[in-house]
Amino acid sequence: MNRADIAIVGGGIAGLTAATEAARRGLRVLLFERAERIGGRSISTREGGFTFNLGPHALYDSHFRKALHDFDVPFHGTTPARNRFAERDGKFHRLPITASAVATTRLFGVRDRLDFLQAFTRIMKAKGEYLDELSTTLVSEWLDANVRRPRARAAAESLFRLASYANAPGITSMDAVAAQTMAGTVLYVDNGWQELANGLREAAQRSGAKIRSGARVERVAAADSGYELTLGNGEQVEARSVIVAVEPADAARIVEGPAGGTIERWAKATVPIRAACLDVALAKLPNPRRPWVLSVETPHYFSVHSSYAKLAPAGGGTVSAVRYLAPGEDGMAAEAELEQFVDLIQPGWRDELVYRRFMPALVVASDIPKAASGGMAGRPGPAVPGAPGLFVAGDWVGREGLLADASAASGRAAAGLAAKLLADPASPVRGRVSIPA
Ligand SMILES: Cc1cc2nc3c(=O)[nH]c(=O)nc-3n(C[C@H](O)[C@H](O)[C@H](O)COP(=O)(O)OP(=O)(O)OC[C@H]3O[C@@H](n4cnc5c(N)ncnc54)[C@H](O)[C@@H]3O)c2cc1C
Repeated sequence: MNRADIAIVGGGIAGLTAATEAARRGLRVLLFERAERIGGRSISTREGGFTFNLGPHALYDSHFRKALHDFDVPFHGTTPARNRFAERDGKFHRLPITASAVATTRLFGVRDRLDFLQAFTRIMKAKGEYLDELSTTLVSEWLDANVRRPRARAAAESLFRLASYANAPGITSMDAVAAQTMAGTVLYVDNGWQELANGLREAAQRSGAKIRSGARVERVAAADSGYELTLGNGEQVEARSVIVAVEPADAARIVEGPAGGTIERWAKATVPIRAACLDVALAKLPNPRRPWVLSVETPHYFSVHSSYAKLAPAGGGTVSAVRYLAPGEDGMAAEAELEQFVDLIQPGWRDELVYRRFMPALVVASDIPKAASGGMAGRPGPAVPGAPGLFVAGDWVGREGLLADASAASGRAAAGLAAKLLADPASPVRGRVSIPA
C-alpha cells in the first residue's frame, strides 16, 4: 500500500498550493488528480496559436499571486490599463476606475461623479470594525445606503460584478466585494493560466511532492492510522492527513462517515458564482482600439486578453464575452446576446473568425460569500470538525480571498494546519509514515 503524511485530492490551484506548501514544510505528499491534465478550472486551451483560459481570468494582487512568488513560480503578465470602456446605450465612455478617469468620464454628470467617488473612497478605505460590519451587509443594501444617484449606482454595481464575478447583490456580502476591489491591480498572464498550474506542479515536485494525474479518488475513510483512500483502479493509499481540494459536492461524495455528512451540509448551503462565456479567436481585430468593455446597464463584460498579454499570433485576438449569471439563471439564452454584444464592440468580427466556443454555465467559484452566513468569515473549513487531520480547500473555503485567491489561501492554510497537527506530540495523527520507493 502507498503511504503519505498528507494525501491531497484534486490538482487545481487549491490542491497544488496545498501540495507545495506541505512539501516545503518537509512532509511527504501524494496528490491525486482525476483528469489527465492538472489545473482544474485554471487550465488553458490552445487552438491554432490562440490561447484561451476557461473564461477570462485575471490574476489579482492577492493570495494566489503571493503564493506564486513565495514558491518561485515564474510568470509574466500585463495590467490591462489602456483602452478600457464603460458602455451604456451602445455608447462607450472612459471606465471610471482611476481618480482621473472618474473626473473626466462622460459616463455621468457632476453629481453622479461625486456620489460615485465618495462611495468608492469608502470601500477603498474599509478596515477594522467597518469591514466586519460589511460581512453581514448585502451588496444591494450597501448600494442603497451609499450610492443614491441611479447612474452612479449602476456604474458601481457593474464594477462590483467585475471585481467579484458575482451577480447576486441580494445574497452576496459586501466584505467580499470590498476585498476584491482592494486587491490591487490585476494581471493578464502570458500563455494562459495553465502556465501557473504547471509552475505550481513543478514547485511542488521540486520540494518532493508526488503528483499523479489520471487518478480519481473514489473514497476517503477514517482508519486507525489516519485515513485510507481508495482510487478508481482499486488501489489503496494510507495517509495521516488528507486535504480534499475539490468542489463541495464532489468532496461530499467521496468522504465517508460523519465528516462526509458535515461536508454534505456545507455543500447544500453553497450558491455557486456562474458565468456564460463566448470565446472567439479572430485573425484580425476589426477595432483594435476597443479591447475592453464593461456594460453598466446589463451584466455583460468583454475583453480581448491578447491585447494585453501574449495569447495570440501577431495581429490576432482572443476575444471573451461574458454574461454574469444570477443564481439559478439558465446560461443557454446568453449566446445570442453575447454575439450581439461582440457585434456592438467589434463589428465585422464574423469575417475574421478562426475559432469559437460557447460555454453556457461555467462555475467561476463554488460559493458566494453570503451576508446571511457572516460573509467570508462564515465560509467553512479548512478543518472538518470532529475529523482530526481531515481538511478541505478551494474557492468555497476559509475566511481569506475570493476566486483563485480563496483556493490558494485555503490550500496553504490547510497544509499549515496539517503540518502543525502532524508535529504535535499529543495529536491522534502524529508521526511520519513514508512513501515506499
Ligand atoms: C469563467 C471563469 C472566470 C474566472 N476568472 C477568475 C479570475 O479572473 N480571477 C481569479 O482569481 N479566479 C477566476 N476564476 C476562478 C478560478 O478559476 C477558480 O477559483 C480556481 O481555479 C479554483 O481552483 P480549485 O483548486 O479550488 O478548484 P478546481 O480548479 O475545480 O480544482 C479541483 C480539482 O479536483 C479534481 N477532482 C475532483 N474530484 C476528484 C476526485 N474524486 N479525485 C481526484 N481529483 C478530483 C478536479 O478534476 C479538479 O482538477 C474564474 C473561473 C471561471 C470558470
